[in-house]
Amino acid sequence: MLLCGGVRILVFLFLQGAGVLFAAGLSQLPAVVNGEYLEKVQIYEAGRHKYLSAEAVGKIYGARVYWYQVAGRVVFSWENRRLELWVGTPRVLMGEKEIRLGRPVLLRGGQAYLPLEFLLHRDFSDWAGYDSSYDFGREVLTVDRRSNLGSPRYFSYPDRLRMALELGPEVSYHPLRRARGRLEILLMGGVPSKSRQWRLEDPAVHSFGLVEQKRLSRLWISLGKEAMRWELQEKRNPRRLILDVYRRTAASAAPQTSPSVFFQKGEGKSNQKRRIAIDAGHGGRDGGAVGRRGTLEKDINLRVARDLAELLRQEDQFEVLLTRRKDATLSLLERTRKANRWDADLFISIHCNAATDSAMSGFEVYYLSEQASDPRAAAVARFENASGREDLKALEKEFKALEILSSMHLTEKINESSVWGGLLVRELQMRVDLAKRGLKQAHFYVLRGNRSPSVLVELGFLTHAADEAKLQNPRFRKKLVDGIYAGIIAYSQRRWWEQAALSSSASKK
Ligand SMILES: [Zn+2]
Repeated sequence: MLLCGGVRILVFLFLQGAGVLFAAGLSQLPAVVNGEYLEKVQIYEAGRHKYLSAEAVGKIYGARVYWYQVAGRVVFSWENRRLELWVGTPRVLMGEKEIRLGRPVLLRGGQAYLPLEFLLHRDFSDWAGYDSSYDFGREVLTVDRRSNLGSPRYFSYPDRLRMALELGPEVSYHPLRRARGRLEILLMGGVPSKSRQWRLEDPAVHSFGLVEQKRLSRLWISLGKEAMRWELQEKRNPRRLILDVYRRTAASAAPQTSPSVFFQKGEGKSNQKRRIAIDAGHGGRDGGAVGRRGTLEKDINLRVARDLAELLRQEDQFEVLLTRRKDATLSLLERTRKANRWDADLFISIHCNAATDSAMSGFEVYYLSEQASDPRAAAVARFENASGREDLKALEKEFKALEILSSMHLTEKINESSVWGGLLVRELQMRVDLAKRGLKQAHFYVLRGNRSPSVLVELGFLTHAADEAKLQNPRFRKKLVDGIYAGIIAYSQRRWWEQAALSSSASKK
């Protein structure tokens, strides 16, 4: 938004330059593969035509590459299928089937290069089991494996570690305990987007992994010393497996700060659902920040907010309020009022960043203060505060009039917000490969009037090429949503569930 003039000039200069620079040569291309960003995919450019190195194709599409230089032959090999191509010819063998490329395979610098159009072609997508698209405007290649297994999610609860795995309708599962300390679940017909493993710092589960084999996948779990028993259940909408591994002893409570009104609120009502207010920044006439490639902040914010709401609704501990459900204009005050009227327990406002410096990247989390933690934080707050196009003096008046918070309450709200923000930074950092810019403070109007602990998250910079490409990718956004969700769980554990457990055990005595 701040940048419109500057961006136009840059684009103009770039096009001018591009006319001169249209020449053949080795170059690099950014790609988002299964939600992960690859900054430098080796390509060869001949005029308008792009070619990917065989090595890059193998890496992106999960195939082994065999290169027979003398014969000029390239073979890609997957678990149960292969693809053969020859340098200088348009011939391709897909198993038994022969097809022809529009342009032949090139040899450059001792390497084979495949025409990009071939990778985007339906025949190749069906064969490899990937959907590929190239955004000519943004110049980003996006590749997603066609999978019927989601990426496993894990969340630590006071008494257990919970794992959740989304399954396609055709996948059947079969749990088996292979040996002491190891649990496996066979997923017949299951195809993950990628085989991977995760290391956890949980006393019940050391690590787990998802491995693809022929016609099935395995989810293995390496149990920790504290693991006592486990429970597997299936849930619907979306269809998913839930595995709970219970600990022998409940996780020790994190050190508590002074007693807070925010968790006292639920005392005596330990079964009470917690209310999470999710605010998708901007909307309607107010687009928010604009990406270098034209991405609108309001759209990304809304997608993330909705996905987060959907995930929270899968758990019975939470109720969810979305301040806006669609592309609608909403003032900052309306957002706050909605959350207060609904009596929210926690508030998060979701945004994307922008900067004139295109090298700036990463996520940051803010909580309220009169004084910004640094000049850049102050600039972010100015930008977000201006978004509602409200008369800020009138708004200031409103706040004074409805200043429901005593100064003690306000200090405590800010303290709680910093705890909540700190946990959010930690959990996001564990799940998302974005630069961590940390926890900051500034004077945001959308946080000011809330009665509940409130933070504002800037997911990434739309003005940064890689951040913008990632934020456009649904799989990447899923990881962001998992990170925010885990932050909410972490806060709940520290402030509500521990407290509920403590007060219920105290009342039993
Ligand atoms: Zn914003």
